[in-house]
Amino acid sequence: MSLEGKVAVVTGGSRGIGRAICLRLAAIGAKVAVNYVSKPDAAQETIDLIKLEGGEGSVYRFDVADSAEVQDAFKKITDDYGRIDILVNNAGITRDGLLMKMKDENWDQVLNTNLKGAFNCIKAVSRVMMKQRSGRIVNISSIIGFVGNAGQANYAAAKAGLTGLTRSVAKELASRGITVNGVAPGYIVTDMTSGLSEEVTSIIKSEIPMGTLGEVEDVAGAVAYLVSDDARYLTGQFLHVNGGMFMG
Ligand code: NAP
Repeated sequence: MSLEGKVAVVTGGSRGIGRAICLRLAAIGAKVAVNYVSKPDAAQETIDLIKLEGGEGSVYRFDVADSAEVQDAFKKITDDYGRIDILVNNAGITRDGLLMKMKDENWDQVLNTNLKGAFNCIKAVSRVMMKQRSGRIVNISSIIGFVGNAGQANYAAAKAGLTGLTRSVAKELASRGITVNGVAPGYIVTDMTSGLSEEVTSIIKSEIPMGTLGEVEDVAGAVAYLVSDDARYLTGQFLHVNGGMFMG
């Protein structure tokens, strides 16, 4: 599997799953545009790690929820690298709470980042990829988008929305040589899950047939496959990386 000569954009590449995706794609030859919104040091650390392994990449700050910032950033990335072959929509947030008490702003922030953010980036990159008549788009969803979760109506709605977005855009772009797929992780060890109490973590583990939370590399491996030539005939699909917790 080689991505030599390819350019990848990974949103939310500064930490967690996004960083692991950046490192994996760079390790197999891609030049990586690492996006972040609020933590420049973390994004720079991702680049340092890429370079330590002999890879190439640069940092781009933009808020995926802001369509003007996204348009500008994708123009800059295209100017800097001359092309974009891969887009991984990974940036995501949680603002948990029971529906009855959920503030409008918590609904809006999650939908704007996790769903509209992917729309903004796909729209910005699709022009470039259509001209190239090739491209790979991977949307990072969640098991929660498929099974729901009390206290995460906003997050589940956004992630379920990604399924419709992925499948519709897959149909729109298939004839241009662009595939659009998704990866739906279960529970993965990152900053996002580090706040879970020991009690909740042990309940979650008891519901995972493989008995353990996943690692960021497990998700990165699935993404690497979907953007590779091996997956050229696969579009509109989701890979469920969850230790058997949900079998889609
Ligand atoms: P994380 O450790 O909290 O990192 C979130 C990343 O998203 C950071 O790089 C952050 O940038 C970036 N980000 C947040 N809002 C953004 C915005 N508006 N514009 C650009 N970047 C933004 O999260 P994670 O656990 O790695 O999760 C990554 C993805 O996997 C998310 O889509 C999440 O929903 C999904 N997922 C995670 C799990 C899990 O168990 N961890 C399970 C299923 C799905 P800064 O560093 O600048 O803040």
